[in-house]
Amino acid sequence: MTSPGPRLVLLGRQGAGKGTQASMLSAHFGIEHVSTGDLFRAAAAEGTQAGLEAKRYMDAGELVPDDTVIRVVEERFGDGGPLEDGFVLDGFPRTLRQAEELERVLVAHPLDVVVDLDVPTEIVLDRIAGRRVCEDCGTVYHLNMPPREDWACDVCGGRVVQRDDDTEEAIQRRLELYERETRPVVDFYRQLGRLAVVDAVGEGEEVFERIVKVVEKHLRSGPA
Ligand code: AMP
Repeated sequence: MTSPGPRLVLLGRQGAGKGTQASMLSAHFGIEHVSTGDLFRAAAAEGTQAGLEAKRYMDAGELVPDDTVIRVVEERFGDGGPLEDGFVLDGFPRTLRQAEELERVLVAHPLDVVVDLDVPTEIVLDRIAGRRVCEDCGTVYHLNMPPREDWACDVCGGRVVQRDDDTEEAIQRRLELYERETRPVVDFYRQLGRLAVVDAVGEGEEVFERIVKVVEKHLRSGPA
């Protein structure tokens, strides 16, 4: 039997590259990529009531209420699979209450490391304004780095579009909320000794190598 993969959280402001890096980490370590944003977008595309309600918050750049988010994450972890085999959480937790709930869910399987992707504001603004995503599989592109053919996804052929919440107003609101609601989450993990800050400026591959180094170091030294 192979040993279980790492249990990771990626933090970082919108546009820090969480989605891209989480996909790469998921492939590298063979662990599940759990993105609350993707779960909400999928629910909205299916037209479920919860999904459509979440979409209203998302389009306005607001956070989806904690109770809804926690329920969705608990459902995702409900069958125990990712808990046992390792995972990378992307976009969760975003509030202190979510972080505390996560500690409760993970009591028998503590996180190995929480990686905070650090990028200056002017860079995140450029990344979000130019960001385009595949509406089927979520692969992320940029106006400067489009798919090979006519905005059809290189991975699955889906349509590559701008996210509904990547408007200037919603971006501003999300960045404000990050400072107010998510910055305390960074401090929470720092106090627990689980935080690693990684410089996320540079090519995706370079940033990825920095993250893998940090994760491997934490795995060698055991959970904090
Ligand atoms: P993301 O794809 O991670 O940028 O998430 C897109 C949007 O989904 C966010 O702007 C929020 O409206 C909502 N969302 C995703 N994750 C969470 C979360 N953990 N807590 C509250 N809202 C969330």
